[in-house]
Amino acid sequence: MTFIIEYLIPFIFGTIVGSFLNVCIFRLPKKQSIVSPFSYCPNCHKPIKFYHNIPILSFLFLGGKCSNCREPISYRYPVVELLAGLLSLALFLKFGLSLSYFVYLTFSASLLVITFIDIDHQIIPDVITLPGIILGFTVSLFLPGMTFMDSIIGIAAGGGGLFLVAMGYHLLTKREGMGVGDIKLISMIGAFLGIKGVILTIFLGSLFGSSVGLAVMIKEKRDRRYAVPFGPFLTIGALIFLFWGEIIVRRYLYLG
Ligand SMILES: [Zn+2]
Repeated sequence: MTFIIEYLIPFIFGTIVGSFLNVCIFRLPKKQSIVSPFSYCPNCHKPIKFYHNIPILSFLFLGGKCSNCREPISYRYPVVELLAGLLSLALFLKFGLSLSYFVYLTFSASLLVITFIDIDHQIIPDVITLPGIILGFTVSLFLPGMTFMDSIIGIAAGGGGLFLVAMGYHLLTKREGMGVGDIKLISMIGAFLGIKGVILTIFLGSLFGSSVGLAVMIKEKRDRRYAVPFGPFLTIGALIFLFWGEIIVRRYLYLG
């Protein structure tokens, strides 16, 4: 029974959230409504029956194909559902059934949506980051371990810090390194995680981003301007801070 409550329910809840995130990832860049119509097959446009819309399981049961037109369904759908399920489980184990759990689940779910939209379209939608900044600031008034000052400084330092990094990069290379979307994203991360979260996220994001960017350049002999989107690496940095930030800050950055 304990197993069901502690592991299974948070995981299943996360996969259901993930199912909705797939809708957001697919529809937000097209400026379509995320609430109606219900899920439909992108190929034959036939509505998906509710019993064919069970996170992860339906994909496996249907062999990764649409039940109507048999067109293959992207493996991305179950992957997003699985990631959201695991995030929900990890957050539940860390925070228990609390306000922190729901706030950080909303936060990491937004980061997942941003990551996949950034990978697909190289944009980071304002409709997530701008309300995200406001939400992060608002909940900082209620969350244990956060203060509204920390949130405000996080928003300003994140946006300002990344703006300086972007300017420096532009001056050195005469190229566009990151977009305005990345700057709003790091402000949103700052709103939720505060100044320490921003510092570690920019540090880790740049580290991962430049490593992968360099690897892609060497492998494909491509120019740096086609390098990888930055959003996914900021997401990874922010999630690492969310789970292990306090330990890392205390041990390595001497900020705490
Ligand atoms: Zn279909």
